[in-house]
Amino acid sequence: MMEEYNFCPRCGKPLSIKHLFGAERPYCPHCGYIVFRDPKLAVGALIVDEDRVLLVRRGVIPRKTFWAMPSGFVEYDEQPRPALARELREETGLEAEIGRVLEVYPISDPNKKGVFLLFEARVTGGDMQAGDDAMDVRWFPIDAIPWDEVAFPQLREALSMVERAL
Ligand SMILES: [Zn+2]
Repeated sequence: MMEEYNFCPRCGKPLSIKHLFGAERPYCPHCGYIVFRDPKLAVGALIVDEDRVLLVRRGVIPRKTFWAMPSGFVEYDEQPRPALARELREETGLEAEIGRVLEVYPISDPNKKGVFLLFEARVTGGDMQAGDDAMDVRWFPIDAIPWDEVAFPQLREALSMVERAL
C-alpha cells in the first residue's frame, strides 16, 4: 500500500500502520490519529441546448488543450450541485441550473481515486467567457464534435448517448 503521509498530520510524529476498521491504515501511536484516505469527488455538466453541446478547452493537465465538459473537484465543505454551479461560473462565465445525475463514473486520473458525477444542466444566464483553467468555451453542434480532441472516454460515452438521443 502506497502511503500519502509519513508523519502524523496532527502532531507531526512518525506514523505506523495498523489494522483498523477493516483495513491497514496509517496510524499515529503518539496521539492516536488515524489517516483515512477518502475518495475524491468530482462533478461535471452535460449541457445540451437543442442540437448543441457546451464544451471547454482544458488549460490544465491531464489532457491539456482537449475538449471536455465543464467540471471540477468538490471542495471539502461543498455539496455537488453548488460546486458544479461554481465551476461552471469560473470556467465559462455562465450561470446554470443543475439538474439530475446522468451517470456515475470512476475518476480517470490514476493518481486521484474517486467518483465523477455527471449532471444534466441548463444555462440560465451570464456572459460566456472562458476563465480559470479553461482556455476556450464553445457550443458544438452534436454532429460537429471534435471526437479526436475529446478529453476523456467517459465524455465520449456521454456525448454519444446524446447523439443517439437526438
Ligand atoms: Zn499524532
